[in-house]
Amino acid sequence: MEFIIPFNKPYLTGQETNYINQAVESGKISGNGIFTKKCQSFFEDKYGFKKCLLTTSCTDALEMAAILSNIKEGDEIIIPSYTFVSTALAFIRQGAKIVFIDSEADTPNIDVSQIESLITAKTKAIVPVHYAGVACDMDSIMDLANKYNLLVIEDAAQAIDSFYKGKPLGSIGHMAAFSFHETKNIISGEGGLLVINDERFIDRAEIIWEKGTNRASFFRGEINKYGWVDTGSSFLPSEIIAAFLWAQLENLDLIQIRRKKISEIYFKGLDGLAKKNSIKLFCVPDYATNNGHMFYIETKNISERTALLSYFKANNILAVFHYLSLHKSSFYEQNYPHYANKHLPNSDRYSDTLIRLPLYYDLSNEEVNFIIEKINVFYNSQI
Ligand SMILES: *Cc1c(COP(=O)(O)O)cnc(C)c1O
Repeated sequence: MEFIIPFNKPYLTGQETNYINQAVESGKISGNGIFTKKCQSFFEDKYGFKKCLLTTSCTDALEMAAILSNIKEGDEIIIPSYTFVSTALAFIRQGAKIVFIDSEADTPNIDVSQIESLITAKTKAIVPVHYAGVACDMDSIMDLANKYNLLVIEDAAQAIDSFYKGKPLGSIGHMAAFSFHETKNIISGEGGLLVINDERFIDRAEIIWEKGTNRASFFRGEINKYGWVDTGSSFLPSEIIAAFLWAQLENLDLIQIRRKKISEIYFKGLDGLAKKNSIKLFCVPDYATNNGHMFYIETKNISERTALLSYFKANNILAVFHYLSLHKSSFYEQNYPHYANKHLPNSDRYSDTLIRLPLYYDLSNEEVNFIIEKINVFYNSQI
């Protein structure tokens, strides 16, 4: 076969450049303009998020959350080891120690049964990551947070338009961070969103967002001059990015329908292999939903995964593995040796066995079926 099925292909709705032109022609292309406000209101209205601020990435949104949480030298933050570097990095930059926790047996999400044993007098926050857009068990996490007076910051980078017991992900923790990186469901190249659900943090968030100044409240006419009042950075994206994002948000439902459909075809087509225990399909607990962000399978071990990935490549299918356990990273082992020698078997298993299959809006049913067929051939020709 001559064509290549890439792992990801950014979807364009067709309106992106029109809105970018509008922003350019309006003469206002720096941040916090009309498109930024449209995007922020969209999320506040659709998902009931209390306050939304666009950022230049999810990493930035997590950094803002770490600053707002007043994380200081020596504080401890509980984070899954099976996640992207940014989840930890945002807190490391504030001087925190990361206490890595294992994933569940059935999903790469945080194993809530292990949280309580990791809480100490220094623990400040828990950062659950909704892997593949599948919700963590948020009731248990929020109960522990309330019991020990901890903050919960949802890493919802992959979790747009996904739900826990009917509640939108991103609306449950004190704060949440989303990503619009080109590999996510809704994109702006690079981009992110900080959600603030706890009102105590709202005023300060706007200040940190705009270089430590009270500029936002000045432009609302609440004060008659603005100045330097706090720490911060330039976390806000330009209107050019927000204009692009707006085109995507207008098509959110369409994008979600297609991505979920692809996921459904994968589930049906691979069910036979899962029943025979050749592979493991990903698990969506009763309290969670599948938002069509990712479709992954698990192989038995790393050598089988390597063989399957080579087989994909030989058939022009670009599938990929995902995270390496962060507690075993060279950065962490060098800088935090006495925290690093932990045994987190589920995290290591996902590092070794998980494969993400191509999933993007323009992937045709034919291509999905071709991938399914190849996986079936791979396993049925083994033994
Ligand atoms: C993509 C991703 C991030 C980082 O998002 P950026 O927008 O690229 O900064 C963080 N955490 C998780 C779980 C992600 O999937």
